[in-house]
This record gives sequence, C-alpha cells and structure tokens, in this order.
Amino acid sequence: MPGTSRMPVSLRESFNNVKKRRPPNNPLQVVNLDLIRNIVFFFFLLRWTRRVLWKLKGRGLFGTFAELYTETRRILYGYFLRAPGVRTQVRKQIDEALTKMQGKLVPANATRYLTLPKEGWTEEAIRKELDTLASMDHTRWEDGYVSGAVYHGEDELLKLQTEAYGKFTVANPIHPDVFPGVRKMEAEIVAMVLSLFNAPPGAAGVSTIGGTESILMACLAARQKAYAERGITEPEMILPETAHTAFRKAGEYFKIKVHLVACPAPNYQVDVRRVSRLINSNTVLLVGSAPNFPHGIIDDISALSKLALKRRLPLHVDCCLGSFLVPFLEKAGFETTPFDFRLKGLTTISCDTHKYGFAPKGNSTLLYRTQEHRAYQYFVDPSWSGGVYASPGMAGSRPGALIAACWTSLMSIGEAGYLQACEQIVGTTKKIADRIRDSPALAAELEILGNPLVSVLAFQARNLDVYDIADGMSAKGWHLNALQNPPAIHVAVTLPITKVWERLASDLEEVVEAEREKERVRAVEGKKAKGKATAGDAAALYGVAGSLPNKSIVVDLAKGFLDLCYKA
Ligand SMILES: *Cc1c(COP(=O)(O)O)cnc(C)c1O
Repeated sequence: MPGTSRMPVSLRESFNNVKKRRPPNNPLQVVNLDLIRNIVFFFFLLRWTRRVLWKLKGRGLFGTFAELYTETRRILYGYFLRAPGVRTQVRKQIDEALTKMQGKLVPANATRYLTLPKEGWTEEAIRKELDTLASMDHTRWEDGYVSGAVYHGEDELLKLQTEAYGKFTVANPIHPDVFPGVRKMEAEIVAMVLSLFNAPPGAAGVSTIGGTESILMACLAARQKAYAERGITEPEMILPETAHTAFRKAGEYFKIKVHLVACPAPNYQVDVRRVSRLINSNTVLLVGSAPNFPHGIIDDISALSKLALKRRLPLHVDCCLGSFLVPFLEKAGFETTPFDFRLKGLTTISCDTHKYGFAPKGNSTLLYRTQEHRAYQYFVDPSWSGGVYASPGMAGSRPGALIAACWTSLMSIGEAGYLQACEQIVGTTKKIADRIRDSPALAAELEILGNPLVSVLAFQARNLDVYDIADGMSAKGWHLNALQNPPAIHVAVTLPITKVWERLASDLEEVVEAEREKERVRAVEGKKAKGKATAGDAAALYGVAGSLPNKSIVVDLAKGFLDLCYKA
C-alpha cells in the first residue's frame, strides 16, 4: 500500500499483528482496512496541523512558546505541590487560612437552627429574629462603604419594590394563563430595555435572573446557532481578558473553547487585531464589554462590530454593569462611545436591570438583534411524560414577584430618574478620578487605569503594594474590590457612595500616607525587616498565593470558602 509508510511504526506493527492472526482469505477486507486506516490517519494529521497553524496564527511564534512555557511551569509546579511533605504543609496552611476565615464569616456564639422547630414560631418571634439577622455586624452599605453591591438602596424605592413583591409573591411566569400580569410586565421590561439600546425592528429579548444567566444564554445561543447553521461541533469564542468571568463559566458549562485576548495599557481595551488573528472556522462568538468589571473600560465596540460584520460572526456586548448608565451618558453630557444596536455588527447585549436599573437582585435582560437568534436559547421538549415543555432560559419556575419588583423600579424611576442617577454617579466617579490625579497625597502614588467613562474607577500603585492599600481601606470600614493582572483596586460608584465620596477620598489619602510611612521605616531598617510582619487578607491572597505559577492553592482556598458559606 502506498500510504503504509506514513503510519507510525508501533501502529503499523499492531496492524500487522492483526493481519497475522487473521489470514487474508478475503483480500477485499484487508484493502478496506488499509484504506480506512489511511483515511483516519489523514484526518488525524489534518486536524492537528490545522490546530497548530491556528495557534501560530493566533498567538504568533513567540506567544505560542510563551503559552507552552507557562503551561509547563504550571504542570511542574502542580507536581511539586503534590510531592510528599509539601502537600501536607500546603494543606496545613490552607486549613489555617480557612479557620481564620471561618472566624470572620461564621459567628461562633450565635444560636444555630439545624432542624425544623418542633412547632412553628410565632410571627412575633420570627420578626424579632429577622431583625437580629438583618442587623448582624456587617460592612456598612447603608452608609456608602461598599463598592458596587447595592446600587440604589433608598427607602422609598425599597418600600415600593417590597409592595410589588407582596402582590405577586405566588406568581410564576411559567404559567402565563395563571399570572397574566407577570407575563405582561416581563414582556414590557424587555421592550423598555430594547428601546434603551436602540434595538431595530424585529429585535427581541428575554429576562433572566442575573447577568451571569444572561451571559450564559448568549454563549449557548451562539453555540447552538453555529451548530445548526454551520455544523460547528468544536465551538470556540474569543474574549477580552477583562470580560466578566461568566463567559469562562459558559465555556466550562457548554464546552466552548475560550481564547483570551490581552487588554494592554495604556487604554486597557481589548486588542482587536489580536481578536482578528484568533478567528478560525470554529469561532462562534466575539465579545466586548461596555464597560468591563475590573477596570470600568468600554472596549472598542465599533472596531469589534466591523470585525464581526466582516467575518460574519455574532458579537455580544456585555453591558451588565453599564446597564442603565451607559445609555444615558450622552444625554447627561458625558463623554461616550458607540455601544448599542446602532452598530450593525452587534448581535446580542446583556443588561442588568438589577445593577444601575435599580431593580432588586435576581433581574437581568438579554437582548437579541433578531427573534430567530433568540430561539436558539430556548429549551423545548415535545415528548416528556410530564407534557410538552418549553422554557426560555436556565430556570424552570421563576419568581414572578421579582419581575413585578423590576417593572415597578423601571416605571417609578423613569427616564428622568435614570438620567439624574447617571449625572450623580458618573459625576461622582469623575470627581474621585480628579481627586486621585490632583491630590498631592495621591497623584504621585496612584495611577488610574485607562480612561474610565462610566462608574468604575480602577487604580494601581506606583511604589507601594496596592493590596496593602486595599487592606488599609478595609480597616477603615471600606469594601473596595481587589483586582489582579495587574495588581489594582477598584471602586464601583453607587448612589450611596455619591453621598460619602469625599470621605472615601480622604481615607484613601490617609491610608496611602500611612503605607508610605511604613515603607520609609522599612527602608531605614534595611533588608532584615523586609518581609511583611502582618500581611492583610488581600495582600496575602493576591500577593503570595496569586503569584504562584500554579493556582491550585487559590482554588482550594476558594472552594473552602464556598464550603464555609454553607456552614450552618
Ligand atoms: C456584574 C457583572 C456581570 C454579571 O453579573 P451577575 O448579575 O453578578 O451575574 C457581568 N458582566 C459585568 C461586566 C458585570 O459587572
């Protein structure tokens, strides 16, 4: 056979053995076996050649080797961590860290209820206990001490939302005939958000229980669409490194290969040329953020849109965080950049009504340019013994009460209210940014990442350890977000923060001053004192564990943390 020489020796031998055991009394059989063998081998070769070429095209020779190097280091360090002696030491340290965490997370002296009460409690007893639970010692979001998390929090809105919730406590949109009001409200929420993002005629959407579900569904729909229309069985998507991790979750859940693209300084937007190089015939989705969570930067959505049009690929824009701020930037007189359906290449947008839409948690929307695209996220089972079943997203039954509370928020705040909130929140973000740039205490030390146009401000430290600054702020009662790659912290400005931003800025000045003083002392005392005596939580997690070549320690810590969350 002409192709035989291409077979690896070992394979050839095993085939020869097969032949030896079964004499070729039927010559045709042997010919077929050889032929099939060669065809299979050819496709194997083609597949791997194609992969290598895609890799080289996408990452370049240097990038490919850099990836190989990182991966090798990760694997080798993984072996090291599992070596006898090291493993027990690592486990001991993780357990120590978790015990410390438990002390903070799970109060030791509270009464715990681990079984049903024999008799139900009286209303009075329950009310009393609920009050205790609501006032447990916590970071004071009510006083504006928390980045993000609670975006509105004013009593009047909360009261109205609770009233709406109360009217629809039993409602479930899975039964539109039983709860027609909820169906109507849900459809109207989607319509209102579509109009906010300048959706063209024929556009459609769904409501979901949060940004993560919106993103999961956008990825699933893109994968299903590519399978149905292009026969793609090994889907890939291309993400900015800074895109929300929900996309990586979608990659894991739905088996979509993820390519991450750097978002380099000075503008921290995704490098669109690199995105372009990573596109291949398995690509099912491109992604941009408006803005991203870590740095609050809006990617160059116009360029991504052009690329998506040219390569005829879907483009998702994650506006979960931008939600109801980004659409109002222009009217509020702030600098803005194209982000919505007016860009022709943009096919889906996620927008969280439960962030700057001020709806209660458990509300988000996913918008599609076309109704046909939306149908790819639907699940329909025509043959279940429980009856013909159809649901739009991940959940089956859903809380109609949350939809009612979302609709109530949108209707009660209205365009004027959101415009005013945008002025306040984005206005405050700009004031904090100015303070960081102009204050003598901060200007020399902190550097704002890129040109944030919305409500998130990320900064890194020039000489100090930025995680020490984060820990210093925690000690003053602030809950800011620690970031990595590069090390930085951010604040997501909310309505509660707009009232106390000046204290935030002056506390930041004090903390930076104090850290600088510590650094001076350390420099005087010389090398001996260089190891930090007491690293705070952020410094420990990101400074030590985060810099390891293999992050399995961080993974174990995080899993331990999740376990703790369920410790009664
Ligand atoms: C918050 C956020 C999400 C996801 O939100 P959840 O509602 O927490 O699931 C997605 N993208 C960005 C940019 C976000 O900030």
